[in-house]
Amino acid sequence: MEYDAIRRFKKIDLHRHLDGDVRPGVMQFIAKKNGIALPVQSNESLEDYFVRLKQDGLPALFQKGFGFVSLLSQTPDNLFLIAYEVVRNLHEDGIIYAEIRFAPQYHTGESTYYGHAGKRMSYEEVIHAIAAGLKAGERKFGVMTKMIVCIGREAEPEVGCEIVKSALNTMHLGVVGIDLACDEAAYPPERHLSAYRLTFDTPLRRTVHAGEFGPQPYRNMATAIHDLRAHRLGQAIPLVRHRGLLAAVRDNQIGVEFCPQSNLFCGHIGHVRDLGIETCLAEGIHVSINSDDPAMFGYTLTDTFATLNKYTSLTPIDLSTMMHSAMQSAFCSEEEKDKILALIDIQK
Ligand SMILES: [Zn+2]
Repeated sequence: MEYDAIRRFKKIDLHRHLDGDVRPGVMQFIAKKNGIALPVQSNESLEDYFVRLKQDGLPALFQKGFGFVSLLSQTPDNLFLIAYEVVRNLHEDGIIYAEIRFAPQYHTGESTYYGHAGKRMSYEEVIHAIAAGLKAGERKFGVMTKMIVCIGREAEPEVGCEIVKSALNTMHLGVVGIDLACDEAAYPPERHLSAYRLTFDTPLRRTVHAGEFGPQPYRNMATAIHDLRAHRLGQAIPLVRHRGLLAAVRDNQIGVEFCPQSNLFCGHIGHVRDLGIETCLAEGIHVSINSDDPAMFGYTLTDTFATLNKYTSLTPIDLSTMMHSAMQSAFCSEEEKDKILALIDIQK
């Protein structure tokens, strides 16, 4: 398929981080409005600054790149604008349904990325501001969005419980699921088992970043499936190499959120073939192909599919099959799934 045909094809993104999807132009606008100094050197544009960070390596990008976005996302107004602009990004990328995730603990007013200096906004207030921005974007651009509330996993277990309670209280705003995000190596999933338990008898759905990096990817995926009762796994990079887990995922109809371009960018895989996407699809697993942190890492979901297309030439039927597979594990209602699927082109 041609790049532009992939871009125009109506797509679904189930794994996209709000703070990983802020474009430099939006950062610049918010920084100016709030009197926040840009981290650039003289004569350097913000775009060039991010190129430099990427050249400096992942730690620099995570600390300084996400750190700067964190500075800009600590008030209801700024969260509204960032969320609204995320929907513009979705629209320009040809996405018609997306589940946008964020960890409220990083946006409460005085917090910094990986640090929690204070709390001026409650978690629910953070969710309200983002929900309002997404809704406004939805009205303007016609993209359907839902929210996944993440626990930044370094949080204490009781903070995790508080965050999940805020998610349960805001389901009417479009919160459909919870997630564990950030440092999987240092904070394995069982740390937040009590928080996940709060959702077991509720309609709130569960996904977990598991099998992305760290010394025990298989153990973490197993914990996510059996103890946290995940409906989906985020990343699950080595899943295809473990027959037992692959069978558990298939038999329990657990969705798999692959993020191939992100994995390549972060160096977690050497080749998209490492993920075994075709094997998973052939097994009947509900696979989705997602963007993760597109603006921060410098690509789009269209680019992600274009990368796949380079190695396995995709046809519109393949794309349609992938979107149907993704939608099977979406967290929206069955009626909403039908509505979205009816919009996806099936060109035979
Ligand atoms: Zn992610």
